[in-house]
Amino acid sequence: MSENRCYTDAYLRSITGAVVRVEPAVGDGGASVVLDRTVFYPGGGGQPADAGMLHGTSGETWVVRTARRAGDDIVHELRAGVAPPDVGTPVTAELDWERRYALMRTHTALHTLCGVVWRDYHAPVTGGNMEPGSGRMDFEFESMSGELVGTIEARVNAELAAAHDVRVKILPRDEAFAIPDLIRTKINLLPEGITEVRTIEIVGLDLQADGGTHVANTREVGQIHVTGYESKGRINKRIRLELVAPVA
Ligand SMILES: [Zn+2]
Repeated sequence: MSENRCYTDAYLRSITGAVVRVEPAVGDGGASVVLDRTVFYPGGGGQPADAGMLHGTSGETWVVRTARRAGDDIVHELRAGVAPPDVGTPVTAELDWERRYALMRTHTALHTLCGVVWRDYHAPVTGGNMEPGSGRMDFEFESMSGELVGTIEARVNAELAAAHDVRVKILPRDEAFAIPDLIRTKINLLPEGITEVRTIEIVGLDLQADGGTHVANTREVGQIHVTGYESKGRINKRIRLELVAPVA
């Protein structure tokens, strides 16, 4: 089982651990490495997995193309054509921080959008996806229209500038299921056996069950542009946004 500190400290850029398992390269892919501890987000909830590097104690480096979850392990996929470190080797896992931080800002921007759309239009979110600096959210939002785009953009930017703190909590299942605000974000879709629910709260605006990495305050997002919306049927609408300054 890999201890993954990204869930409790999104700002931790690197951590030193040891290789506990190596999967040999398959086909054109690279070898994969499981560490006893890491900071790499393995992807999920619309947020892509982290990339970065592993550093050995004698200056060796391995490029991590991406990461993924396998049971309780976090698997780091290395660039093809490179011999992986041996089991037992101490390595420091270091994020591509520019990319990760852009994803944290983007993810928090999307939750701010969800908060505004729920507060002002009572439209629940049904899904979303992002890249560093841009993303989209899908809503059950029958009254969404082209005229609303500018209003929503201005309201999201006002909330970002209002400098709301963003809090991470890990709650027992029963406690989480008793929070009415969480029910509307489809908490009921969480797997049966789950005993804890991680929540992301934009204080005063939004609360969601969420596994991703976020900035600590909405002011870190900066400002956003709503770049468009699409109808995915009469009720389902997709809103796209991007960060005005993609890289801080
Ligand atoms: Zn999220």
